[in-house]
Amino acid sequence: MDTAFVSRERDRMLRELGELLAIPSVSALPDHARDCRVAAQWLVTELERLGCPVVTLIEGNGHPVVWAESPPVEGKPTLLIYGHYDVQPPDPLDEWETPPFAPTVRDGKLFARGAADDKGQVYCLLKAYEAVRGADGRPPLNVRFIFEGEEESGGHAIFDVLRKEPWRTDVDAALVCDMSYYAPGIPAVYTALRGMCYAEIVVRTLDRDLHSGAYGGVAPNAIETLARMLSQLKEETGEIQMAFCPPRTPPCGCQYATRCPSGVKTLQIMRAVVFSPRSQGMTEKVDRSGMRYMSDSAIRAKPSMEEPSNHLPWLMQSSS
Ligand SMILES: [Zn+2]
Repeated sequence: MDTAFVSRERDRMLRELGELLAIPSVSALPDHARDCRVAAQWLVTELERLGCPVVTLIEGNGHPVVWAESPPVEGKPTLLIYGHYDVQPPDPLDEWETPPFAPTVRDGKLFARGAADDKGQVYCLLKAYEAVRGADGRPPLNVRFIFEGEEESGGHAIFDVLRKEPWRTDVDAALVCDMSYYAPGIPAVYTALRGMCYAEIVVRTLDRDLHSGAYGGVAPNAIETLARMLSQLKEETGEIQMAFCPPRTPPCGCQYATRCPSGVKTLQIMRAVVFSPRSQGMTEKVDRSGMRYMSDSAIRAKPSMEEPSNHLPWLMQSSS
């Protein structure tokens, strides 16, 4: 490895990184769609310059995904490097001391939108790749690059690509360069990262409003039920009480298909709580006490869950 690389190439690297940071590739704003493409193309040009024999822009419904492969290195493992070339909108603009897309060095730090998330990290890894290549232009192991342009806007492009072509992640290790150092000069390795799964849950225990004084003590309470459901998603020790989804595409087209942190067990927990013997017992108890209002049709024999989002129906299905 060329150890003098950084000090020798510093000015050139600052200039190159400045070029990339100056592209306002804000993926969430349609006005910047062209800029996202310019940033993707910038990476394509750089990967070609670094001697990758396979460099492609994978087109889909959203901003393109950049894919590249190093020259093959026989008998060595394969590393997949992930990053994103899009950035968040720079608002509020009046809080920037210098314009967000005019990279500026102040007190030894480089300021620009994307400098820390994630163009800076992407660029670092490209330069690391450049530095470790041998005289023949080959790195010491096989490297794949995948850079997306919708990380900041929750787009589906990379999921669409990987669902169709899962072989792209058939590697020995994946490196996600989308995190930060703990402090200047102190590198950090992050573990146990995870994604997000959204669900909108409506718990309904009654068909209509009931008088709180007359019914409050016995009618099943939706807020209490929901609180109980949520409290059971994790153990007291912090352990998640959820199984991973089976690796298949749900009919709702959920982008979290193969690694949805919710799933069968979540639903079972929800069902167990909502339809727990206790909530049914409540009804029975009331029935036994002969309270007239419990025969009111407004009180359901069983509380029900309604699912307005497109995720939950699949979860419902997967449990049966
Ligand atoms: Zn990021």
